[in-house]
Amino acid sequence: MQKTPSVQVPTNNLAKDEEYEGKAKIIRVLDDQNLLIKFKDDLTAFDGVKKATKKGKGYLNAQITKILYAYLEKQGIPTHLIEQINETTFRAKKLRMLPIEFVIRNYSAGSFVRRYGLSKGMKLKKPVLELFVKSDELHDPLIDPSVAIELGFITRDEYELGKLYSYLVNEFLLQLFDHIGLTLVDFKLEYGVDHEGKLYLADELSPDSMRLWKKGTQESFDKDVFREDKGEVIQAYEYVYKYLQKAKDFQPTSPRFRIHLLIRLKQGIVDAEGAVVKRALTRLGLTQLNEARVGKIIDLEIVATNIERSLETFSTGRTEFLINPLIENSEIIFDV
Ligand code: ADP
Ligand code: UDP
Repeated sequence: MQKTPSVQVPTNNLAKDEEYEGKAKIIRVLDDQNLLIKFKDDLTAFDGVKKATKKGKGYLNAQITKILYAYLEKQGIPTHLIEQINETTFRAKKLRMLPIEFVIRNYSAGSFVRRYGLSKGMKLKKPVLELFVKSDELHDPLIDPSVAIELGFITRDEYELGKLYSYLVNEFLLQLFDHIGLTLVDFKLEYGVDHEGKLYLADELSPDSMRLWKKGTQESFDKDVFREDKGEVIQAYEYVYKYLQKAKDFQPTSPRFRIHLLIRLKQGIVDAEGAVVKRALTRLGLTQLNEARVGKIIDLEIVATNIERSLETFSTGRTEFLINPLIENSEIIFDV
């Protein structure tokens, strides 16, 4: 019988006081809502084939993650970080991690270049989102969102919100890094869900999980320095940390996003308008038409100054005045 590869995130099965040692971090569960994350000095690349330990790397990644999460929290992106315990350790929310990595790209690099035969450093017309399965065993394959949803790796709502957050994180980080003279080429995000079903940005946000180039060049200030033996990786990370510290008060321009609220009559509810449309189209010769139903779209443009609060308006049932819940269903689609 063929072995079914697992796409279970290892930390999802940890009980109280249990520990998981990953490639770059150690996770220790405190209780069902809290865990500790310790950043290690270990560096790995190429599916764990290339390995090294660099003193101070854990400290730098912990500090950089903390600065970037604090910045994103200020813009209303919920993150798992609760508090810093020591130089390399955080207390964070224990989440059920989605077994999917969200990668955003602004320029071509890495696997994107290899997969599509592109030259490195092409500016993409619009940021691109790619999903990958989080599985060492399967070598993190690219996955189409509809397949990830169909296979039950993520729900449609988790995908929609993860996509919105990822694009907005990109808008905020592009501005911050540009301010300190770096180009954000690409990065990877992970999300997890708490016991109430709320989605948080989780894991880390550091030069281990992003590509940063000195503006106008392809000089790396990230893990590529280690991957490609391009110099002293700690010096590169120190540079990022030093300039991020100086940018603590940086205020980004808030991006905008759109919400499309699709309102439809429930199945089984008689749709008089739909019947009129059906008669008219049939008269025009569309004799194959089986059914026509008429709904409503409400398009909203929102300034992303406090995304979490903006979205709460929709999740707490307060928008029911727009919908007649007895006869209508609604669906939210985000557009960035
Ligand atoms: P890997 O597992 O790929 O070797 P790491 O060494 O970075 O990677 O391990 C950290 C693990 O902790 C990852 O599997 C990550 O998904 C998981 N994780 C990160 N944040 C949380 C969280 N808040 N709750 C549960 N698991 C988390
Ligand atoms: N990335 C990551 N963890 C992964 C895969 C990718 O942090 O398991 C980051 C990587 O550092 C880069 C971006 O996601 O910033 C895109 O990576 P890519 O798909 O190009 O893969 P790579 O060639 O870097 O392995």
